[in-house]
Amino acid sequence: MSTELLYKAYDPEHFHQNGQAVLDGLREHLRRLQTTKDTKVIDFIQPEQEYQFWKENFAKFTNLPDFLETVLKRSIHIHHPGYIGHQVAPAVPASAVGTWMSDLMNNGSAVYEMGAANAALERLVCEYLMEPLGWKNGDGFLTSGGTLANLTALLAARKAKALNDVWKEGHSSSLAIMVSDQAHYCVDRAARIMGMGEDGIIKIPVDRQYKIKTDLLESLYQKASDQGVQVIALVGNAPSTATGIHDDLKALGQFARDKNIWFHVDAAHGGAALYSDKYRHLLEGAEKADSIIIDGHKMMGTSSITTAVLFRQAAHSYATFQQDAHYLWEAQEDPEWFNMGKRTFECTKSMMSLRFLSIVAEHGWGFFNDLVNTLYDSGRLFAAKISKHPDFELALEPQTNIVCFRYIRTDEDLDELNQRIRKAVIEDGRYYIVAVQLKEGYYLRTTFMNPFTSEDHMDQLIKLIESLALQPKIIANENK
Ligand SMILES: *Cc1c(COP(=O)(O)O)cnc(C)c1O
Repeated sequence: MSTELLYKAYDPEHFHQNGQAVLDGLREHLRRLQTTKDTKVIDFIQPEQEYQFWKENFAKFTNLPDFLETVLKRSIHIHHPGYIGHQVAPAVPASAVGTWMSDLMNNGSAVYEMGAANAALERLVCEYLMEPLGWKNGDGFLTSGGTLANLTALLAARKAKALNDVWKEGHSSSLAIMVSDQAHYCVDRAARIMGMGEDGIIKIPVDRQYKIKTDLLESLYQKASDQGVQVIALVGNAPSTATGIHDDLKALGQFARDKNIWFHVDAAHGGAALYSDKYRHLLEGAEKADSIIIDGHKMMGTSSITTAVLFRQAAHSYATFQQDAHYLWEAQEDPEWFNMGKRTFECTKSMMSLRFLSIVAEHGWGFFNDLVNTLYDSGRLFAAKISKHPDFELALEPQTNIVCFRYIRTDEDLDELNQRIRKAVIEDGRYYIVAVQLKEGYYLRTTFMNPFTSEDHMDQLIKLIESLALQPKIIANENK
């Protein structure tokens, strides 16, 4: 048996050499995206073709930097100023550096000894995040993404509010949550995972501004009660993913208190605005929530993936997963904030605190204020341009950096036309935008995630869409 491979794999010099080469490549990559005109954000290739490429070529790579450079080239560039698509942050380099180090350290952090610094820093991140909410008796932790975070918060809601102890006894009664019909699909999924079924998800219709119709809360709640269903929680969007519109959190919180149900705020996207002097008002009412989640990798510029789950009352953050695991913990009853696995769904997890705090260590908390203000301002500027333009229509006045709009100068079916435009934009590759099906039809959807997306880029995008809209035949023929 030879150990030669093993020594090479762990050789510090080899690591440094590879790391340096990859780092140099990334510096060039960022520099090019920031300074060169007409680079592509995406070079769209059909999934089957992409698979074939790797199937044929992967084995030919003999060195790591070459392999990684090819991965970079064949991927979407989130740091490109033409990236105005989904809500993923162009990772702040400081966050990526922190992540890089933590990925080598691999401190699993389920128990304190497996990541002492990370455990303490995670507590600190949560305290910092709760500060603008004024949650002095709160507590929280970091987990892998908004999807898991919403599930975790709803499990806490069930523990606190359900009349039966479902964790212990299983289901013996019907439970439900109330949620906007615009909520992220993961809330629906969480409720189903929790065994509530379709009837356990009470979808509240939204008004023309895409906010929960608060005047329907009472009747929907009563209807459920009359059918013997116990409503345990009400979920507010801050903002909703599709439209970027915030629910009236104050009204929702008041209703939840009146009914003694849990109030959860899904602020995966907009929670970062707690740090913005200009846009904090959008979260008014969130301070009365029982729980809130905030994604780092959306509006806080962190590497994926890290989400804070915060509870106004500390005890709730420990209540959910009370479970025996004697091989991990000696004291079962002590909350032990430092043993994270007691509170998270995950056992081993990554050192997520570094994704936030590497940014703060380098740039300070003011960074988040500047980022949110710049990006939300971009949304407004773009929306103003769209609403002034006779050939375009805005779906809604945006509250955030999410802007939904469509091209309307045509006698064609608007849905088909805008679908074709979206496809043509992707194939062109200089801009990346997405789309959304709203009640009124199919809309193009942009989310301004990059602080370097300038007014000039906005004008170019509008021009590009106009020119693509005028050549339907050519695009239709390109249907691969
Ligand atoms: C993005 C998003 C989620 C899901 O978060 P992930 O981190 O992608 O799992 C949930 N809710 C809302 C409102 C979101 O915008």
